[in-house]
Amino acid sequence: MRLLAPTNWDEGLIAPLSKMGPDIQIYGVLPETMVGSGGSGSYVPGMTKDRAQDYIKLAHSAGLTFDYLLNAPSMSNMEWDDNTHRGLLEHLEWLSNVGVDNITVAIPYLIELIKKQFPHINVRASTISKVNSVARAQLFESLGVDSITVDAHINRDFKVLEAIRKAVKCELSVLTNNLCLYQCPYEYYHYSSLGHSSQNYNVLNGFPMDYCVLRCTIDRLTDTSQIIKARWIRPEDLHVYEEIGIDIFKISSRSMPTESILRAAGAYLSRKYQGNLYDILHALNPTVKRTSPDSSGIQTTLIGSPPKVYIDNQALDGFIEFFKKQDCLSGCAHCDYCRKIADKAIKLDRREVDEYVAELKDFLNNLTSSRIFQPAPA
Ligand code: SF4
Ligand code: SF4
Repeated sequence: MRLLAPTNWDEGLIAPLSKMGPDIQIYGVLPETMVGSGGSGSYVPGMTKDRAQDYIKLAHSAGLTFDYLLNAPSMSNMEWDDNTHRGLLEHLEWLSNVGVDNITVAIPYLIELIKKQFPHINVRASTISKVNSVARAQLFESLGVDSITVDAHINRDFKVLEAIRKAVKCELSVLTNNLCLYQCPYEYYHYSSLGHSSQNYNVLNGFPMDYCVLRCTIDRLTDTSQIIKARWIRPEDLHVYEEIGIDIFKISSRSMPTESILRAAGAYLSRKYQGNLYDILHALNPTVKRTSPDSSGIQTTLIGSPPKVYIDNQALDGFIEFFKKQDCLSGCAHCDYCRKIADKAIKLDRREVDEYVAELKDFLNNLTSSRIFQPAPA
């Protein structure tokens, strides 16, 4: 099995990961670049190019390959600015010299640029490219990608996955452990917001407001069937994807602590996990409040710790079979499968959850009423 595991740039990840299997690639990115990525860089504030270069060398010497993320969905048109474009070429030159094996991108223009000017580097279409159909997979392949991480929303749409597998020759990977809402309505906005916040010309110096995460967390905890609808894959069900011909299994997320990354990698490589599946899944949690966006800088305060959620993984044996026949895109209004599974497998302290959700709603109210913004000067 080929695994794509995130790095939080902790050197302590490298040795244990390299011992887990022969074909493991890690992926990561500097906190800020001219392209940006699909995540905020705030969890590795001190990361520099020099440290990244040493880290990638260390990974290579341990037998791991490296995938560098340049996968923001938009560069605010700055790819057409002379200086930014030059910076982009210099960054790609640096990545080439450092010896990264892969670059993951979402902007089609970047696929063509990298394949023309740095043809020795493999290019992977990001899940942010939303490859969710045969037509889109074929068009991305015709741009030159070597690999595609498909849109996670089709993870349980086996008819489409099979058809994409038959239609393209490039590698295909799936995200394994993402708790994002199925058909998340905030997703486009969220990826745009994260992409812009990780660009080194961002006017707010990289501050991402947590509106989207606030919203999806409220949705997920208020209706626990959303936890089951999310398109994660159990380690025990990986064989279903291998039988289709999926090449690579990608673990989210690079903001996870080292221990969680290793736990998830171990579970997927051993194809089993005993106990709480939630331990190896990943959801972003709302972490900051913007209280004073004035010229003195952005002030933040922590939102309380998220409540504990328990998903009995053994209660999910065979649960994937239903999706082989179900059309989820049109089915949710008349289907209670995920509700029933949630009632059977999920345990949480409803009072603790309600208190947490009330705090989130309180902050959401501050955003939607514009109370967090300073009034115009009189
Ligand atoms: S983190 Fe939340 S808002 Fe963002 S894409 Fe995932 S589910 Fe949607
Ligand atoms: S259609 Fe049924 S199985 Fe599919 S996501 Fe909706 S509730 Fe779940």
